[in-house]
Amino acid sequence: MNHMSDRYKQYSVHLVRKFGEKVYKLPVNLPGTCPNRDGTVGMGGCVFCDEEGAGFECLPNTLSVQQQIAENKTFFTRRFNAHKFISYFQAFTNTYLPFEQFRANIQAAAEDEDIVGISISTRPDCINDRYLDFLAGLQGERNLDINIELGLQTVNYHSLVKINRGHTLAEFVDAVQRIKRHRFEICVHLILNLPWDDMLDVIENAKLLSALGINYVKLHSLYIVKETPLGEMYAQEEFELISLDEYIERVITFLEYLDPDIVIQRLVGKGPQGNLLFCNWNTSWWKIKRRIEALLVERDTWQGKKFGYLNGKALRK
Ligand code: SF4
Repeated sequence: MNHMSDRYKQYSVHLVRKFGEKVYKLPVNLPGTCPNRDGTVGMGGCVFCDEEGAGFECLPNTLSVQQQIAENKTFFTRRFNAHKFISYFQAFTNTYLPFEQFRANIQAAAEDEDIVGISISTRPDCINDRYLDFLAGLQGERNLDINIELGLQTVNYHSLVKINRGHTLAEFVDAVQRIKRHRFEICVHLILNLPWDDMLDVIENAKLLSALGINYVKLHSLYIVKETPLGEMYAQEEFELISLDEYIERVITFLEYLDPDIVIQRLVGKGPQGNLLFCNWNTSWWKIKRRIEALLVERDTWQGKKFGYLNGKALRK
């Protein structure tokens, strides 16, 4: 193992293997809200959430699903000569839409022949068997590759309360089990530098995702947007952020404990544009990614190096 691309399972390589060519994600932005903002499970949302609902790379949600897919497809086809696409329901909490509306939107995306997959981003407390049954039916009809992205952020349920997630670890485990029963793949989002988490939490993040048989991971570093509860706490110096060097240590340790079969969709998040109090230590995300990759080589370590703790570790002598 010499080249850094061998040291962790990269998403771009995985997609080409899976679909036989490069596949592009087309973001779709649906109008909607989030149960953690409208009072159903909480008010005000997660402490870091800005009004954009984490869909800042999307077209406006006033356009229909078909229009958004068509526009984004034209762009990717012209620019990259792309042929196959995954429609990515990225913003807000897609499965929190009323069932009929959810079904209509997903069906609209599935109509396009160049769509080979659908990726749906949501919260663990918005996973429900009725919605999953519909998706399973659609997958059967259209031979689509469907996966669900769950925002978890951390396995530390004390930190989940601090960031006002509105759900704890149990809802996440329940959601994972339900999705798995429907045989969809799962991607999990984590933030590795939450101020209330330490290295033990980072290791447990990797171990729990491995034990649950998660398929994909997206790592982010915490960004702080003005006029959010987190922004206020930051201004009041209520917490300290770890350094970039420590963040990189956490990513490397996370990878070492992670099942080598889990595909890494992202090592560092990009963060939204503007209105930011803190994002990626004022460093480009790709520079951080390069530093992580260089260190993996320098230390001769890799994803899964410390993955030996499942299936009765004590019995393997
Ligand atoms: S779940 Fe997403 S949209 Fe809802 S409050 Fe949290 S970050 Fe915002």
